[in-house]
Amino acid sequence: MCGIIGIHNHPESANLAYLCLYALQHRGQESAGIVSSDEGRFYQRKEMGLVADVFDERNLNELKGKSAIGHVRYSTSGESSITNVQPLFAELFGDNFSLAHNGNITNALKLREELKADGAVFQTTSDSEVIIHLLVRSPEGKFEDRLKWVLEKIEGAYSIVILKGTQMIAVRDPMGIRPLVLGQVKDSYVVASEGSCFNLIDGLFLREIAPGEMLIFEGMNYRSIEFKKPSRIRPCIFEYVYFARPDSTIFGRSVYEVRKLCGRALSQEKPVDADVIVPVPDSGLPAALGYAEASGIPFEMGLIRSHYVGRTFIEPESSIRHFGVKLKLSPLKEVITGKRVIVIDDSIVRGTTSMKIVKMIRNAGASEVHLRISSPPTRWPCLYGIDTPNRDELIASSKSVEEIRDYVTADSLEYLSIEGLKSFDSTGNYCDACFSGDYPIQPTDRKDLREKAKAHVACGQKAKSACGM
Ligand code: AMP
Repeated sequence: MCGIIGIHNHPESANLAYLCLYALQHRGQESAGIVSSDEGRFYQRKEMGLVADVFDERNLNELKGKSAIGHVRYSTSGESSITNVQPLFAELFGDNFSLAHNGNITNALKLREELKADGAVFQTTSDSEVIIHLLVRSPEGKFEDRLKWVLEKIEGAYSIVILKGTQMIAVRDPMGIRPLVLGQVKDSYVVASEGSCFNLIDGLFLREIAPGEMLIFEGMNYRSIEFKKPSRIRPCIFEYVYFARPDSTIFGRSVYEVRKLCGRALSQEKPVDADVIVPVPDSGLPAALGYAEASGIPFEMGLIRSHYVGRTFIEPESSIRHFGVKLKLSPLKEVITGKRVIVIDDSIVRGTTSMKIVKMIRNAGASEVHLRISSPPTRWPCLYGIDTPNRDELIASSKSVEEIRDYVTADSLEYLSIEGLKSFDSTGNYCDACFSGDYPIQPTDRKDLREKAKAHVACGQKAKSACGM
């Protein structure tokens, strides 16, 4: 879970990168960093913490130059420590070099072992560092050809921005798993994980960077290269479900609209008689609006969110997580007491949040609590950059829907079907591995999931239902 930003050819590149990182903060809250290039001379600031804590006027002023890349991180590969904070930095082929990566390289462990055997000394435990060591070993040639050679070797999900000397380069993996968009601010170009940050800097959304595309920014212009022909495009459907901001347009669609459509589909698939619909803010809001529109049941803000508490999910200690829900959400008795309430959220991961919320609403006097989830049960861990816990911590990997209902103490619990989730787009070309276990890229580094993925590849030609997985 990370957000990346690249600004090219702007006199205040670091300031713009900083503002954009603010708008990308939801993609990672563990660390933040910016590296800038002033005609090839690099400056950097990176630290553990939120964007607001890491940067101030003084250290931003020190980030000189017309190009800058930035990163916010929540580790999905490698430990959470200062050594892993991105953008990574190296000296390569006589130039300064820096890289920011969103996604997971699924064969990074294997490559790391090979590189170590060849004498590479790693400075971080992050999967992204293999790119630097591979670049060093690439056959001599133009930098873009060296990078293409490296991209042939790495597997997995990657949206990357690079600074090399005076160039900025952006790359998106051939399946397009993680988003990456291109924008413009006057004569400058902006590359970002999500376009929502353009609102903040008066940027113009130009287009998405295509799967398998590399953009090379030099001077006032950029070139585009197709480094690999995309064969199966598989953008991450969980970006729509939870991760991206609703004011972003990714994979060609408004995140907000998709979430609302999921709510509508959920209402059609899983209706229930009730007096009021209450969203879990903010993650369940658009889906609850869609559910309310389609069902005609009144929508009320029955849970009030404190905006001064971070996402509870990211607290490492289970005890803190339990308390965190109460810190973050408070029930509004006026709209709940004596009512049959439909509570809508986007997903259940471990189940702890849902259980606390159901209890909170019941304690506030609801006569019935019906939980509706605008995505299918999350049964499989994400290998491509979303932080989902191990399989054994995912409640739906071992419990049936009825058992989960019992655990969260709801009167009824229903999820949106996978068909319902994908009904917003007739192509159906999404990575939905977290729901289906259908991993589009072989999990080279994950012995535990290799057999499962292989079986899927083998039965991938048949109808999914016939596959029975
Ligand atoms: P849990 O208590 O683990 O079931 O958490 C479920 C809540 O976490 C839901 O409200 C989701 O919106 C949210 N959520 C889902 N996936 C993630 C994730 N990868 N990171 C942080 N929060 C998440």
